[in-house]
Amino acid sequence: MGVSGKVVALCSYETTKLVRIHSVRLGSLKWTLNAAVLLFICVLMLWNRKYQQFDQVVSSVTAKVKGVARMQLPGEEAVIWDEADYSGPSQDKNSFFVVTNVIVTKNQKQGRCPEPPSSGRRCRHHNDCKRGAWEPHSHGIQTGSCVKFDALARTCEVAAWCPVEAKHKPPRPALLASAEKFTVLIKNNIHFPAFNFIRRNILPEMTESYLTRCQRGNDSLCPVFTLGDVVHQAGGNFSTMAVEGGVIGIQIKWDCNLDHLTRRCLPTYSFRRLDQKESNKTLSPGFNFRFAKYKTVDRAEERTLYKAFGIRFDIMVFGQAGKFSFIQLVVYIGSTLSYYALTTVLMDWLIGTTCYAAEEGQNYSERKVESIPDKKECILCVSYVDEENIRLVKMSHKKRLQDVKTIRVQTRKEDIGHMMATLCLLPDPQPSPTALTKPQRRPPSWCKCGGCSGSPLPQEELCCRRSNEGACVATSALFDKLSLQRPLLEALLVYQEPLAQTPPSAAALRRCAYRQYIVWRLGVPPADARPAIPRCCVMRIREAFPSLDGRYGGFALANEAEM
Ligand code: ZN
Ligand code: ZN
Repeated sequence: MGVSGKVVALCSYETTKLVRIHSVRLGSLKWTLNAAVLLFICVLMLWNRKYQQFDQVVSSVTAKVKGVARMQLPGEEAVIWDEADYSGPSQDKNSFFVVTNVIVTKNQKQGRCPEPPSSGRRCRHHNDCKRGAWEPHSHGIQTGSCVKFDALARTCEVAAWCPVEAKHKPPRPALLASAEKFTVLIKNNIHFPAFNFIRRNILPEMTESYLTRCQRGNDSLCPVFTLGDVVHQAGGNFSTMAVEGGVIGIQIKWDCNLDHLTRRCLPTYSFRRLDQKESNKTLSPGFNFRFAKYKTVDRAEERTLYKAFGIRFDIMVFGQAGKFSFIQLVVYIGSTLSYYALTTVLMDWLIGTTCYAAEEGQNYSERKVESIPDKKECILCVSYVDEENIRLVKMSHKKRLQDVKTIRVQTRKEDIGHMMATLCLLPDPQPSPTALTKPQRRPPSWCKCGGCSGSPLPQEELCCRRSNEGACVATSALFDKLSLQRPLLEALLVYQEPLAQTPPSAAALRRCAYRQYIVWRLGVPPADARPAIPRCCVMRIREAFPSLDGRYGGFALANEAEM
């Protein structure tokens, strides 16, 4: 290819050639499938708001607990605890804490005292204790002397805040179990930076009196929660949980739609227990910490130690806001176009399946796909008189044509033009030029019609019948009329070459007879296949128009007739 040829090849555009099938069933199926795909895409788009651009929430949370509880310590007068007492000394950013149970150790001073056997080291002599030693569960540093703890036990003395905390198990029931009635007001401010949208969970229409009256039971937007309800909705029991404490998650979810027509931006609250629920199955259950209150008595510092058990409420805010975005819509539409290919896949599969194509009497794949064989392999086109369709087989030089495996079966295509010409030229029937002579020898094993003779070339060994034994096509009256009548063949040759001077040769008559057979039995053979003529018909034609020197072109000649 020259340079100009390459340029021409570059300046071209290849497009796909399509096949249109006129079928009401297929057409309505196509539109149904396309409508189903469109419906699916639209539902998905509206449901997931695919046409929107989204932004994540930025939020801040504060919580205000309210309530007062009476606490009865064993052996003492009852005391009242308010929020300053039970909220604990410090608060995390997005959480609040409520003390529900407490172990109080009063009037501790710096000094020396024995440790309880549960946390300290038991001993018999001073040698058992080591001065300056410290143990993980211990409250102080050992002084090296062994002292009496109570009537039964002696333990190592420690330098510590004395007396040391003696109890380990929290009291049951919890001392502040009435915290169940406490309420908490959660204030949550959110911001969507991409849309510059600000909102609070305390909505503009909520008034002071609304906040004091509202109840979660009948108003899901009420930002005031009862602690007992929160624990209950998280699947817990407040009085059980109050003994050893725990952690509860309060989730605030914002799913905002900022489009004008469908504007909606309200919080939804949900609750979840975050720590281990089965408190008696875990080694270190619940949630607790210690804090102390200090005072000075007679110039000496004293403290009251609190081991506080309680419930920590972690507030988690998450959510997103969406607003219509043309770019997102275009991107979404673009990403869904491939779904329409499903229709093509399904329809192609349907017309490809033999059941549908056979029902419609069409071979769609033959029309849809143009197959071009490789040069090396030669496809032959074969027709049997006991079958309606024609078969395509691969030519083999080793296996006889009658036995070669079929590649595909397809319907015959009529060569209307040639048939018309033949019918016009068909003369009155004349007696056959050669008497019908039965072959003397027995027909070969592969012959079903009894008219074939053996051939040295396996690709010539083809009978006119596929499976059932029966009459030979070469003995039929029509074969006689079409392929053996010299006047018809001569007329056809003149039809092709009107000005030919000399009478046609026997070879030309044979070629014309072969062609007559092909057009009659095979119609227009597929473009990629060469027609093959059964041995019996070849023999009959050779008998009718014999070669003078007794030599025949054989297989190649039979195929030349196609030209
Ligand atoms: Zn035969
Ligand atoms: Zn035959």
